[in-house]
Amino acid sequence: MNRVYEIYKDLYDYYGPQHWWPADDWFEVTVGAILTQNTSWNNVEKSIENLKQRDLLEPEKLSKIEEDDLAQLIRSSGFYNLKSKRLKNFLEWLKKYNYDTDKIKNKSVTSLREELLSIKGIGKETADSILLYAFEMPVFVIDAYTKRMFSRLGLILSREYDEFQNFFEKNLTKDVQLYNEYHALIVKHSKVYCKKTPKCSNCFLKEKCNWGVNNL
Ligand code: SF4
Repeated sequence: MNRVYEIYKDLYDYYGPQHWWPADDWFEVTVGAILTQNTSWNNVEKSIENLKQRDLLEPEKLSKIEEDDLAQLIRSSGFYNLKSKRLKNFLEWLKKYNYDTDKIKNKSVTSLREELLSIKGIGKETADSILLYAFEMPVFVIDAYTKRMFSRLGLILSREYDEFQNFFEKNLTKDVQLYNEYHALIVKHSKVYCKKTPKCSNCFLKEKCNWGVNNL
């Protein structure tokens, strides 16, 4: 077992399954992935609840809402004018497929990723979250938590998104469920122990971690 699997196993044994993504369907995942940029999930949940209460959490319905009105409905997510525009950009792209996810899922991961990245306001982390959690494609999601935790562990020395992603994808089998769970566990551990100021003395990974070994 390589060290990347070993860390996964340790995290899974400690925390158990995380049941990501907390959403009812692929569209809710996608809206959440766009709204969660630069804000906490609690703020996103309020916006999603707002859309649900008005029965708007469907692509065609949301497409018909004016951008300004949508901005007001997602106010709790912050940067709401910008995020409303981003959602509209995504919906515009989706319209090309007649909102048909089967047509989208027929595309290769690479070309779908390129298309998502060409939508203004959709960056790599958001695109990959949509690919993995909405369309169930084997793409490892990298975020600031992943970079911080794995740099501290001493398993990869880089700041680049693509290098981190290649590192995980080379060391793990291409498996949607594994990628889903691993990313969720990294987020969990980064909130519980591997915080901005890490709680290394209580962390169950401390003996396998460069930072833990060097700072205790
Ligand atoms: S030992 Fe410290 S730095 Fe290493 S994973 Fe645990 S909390 Fe993070």
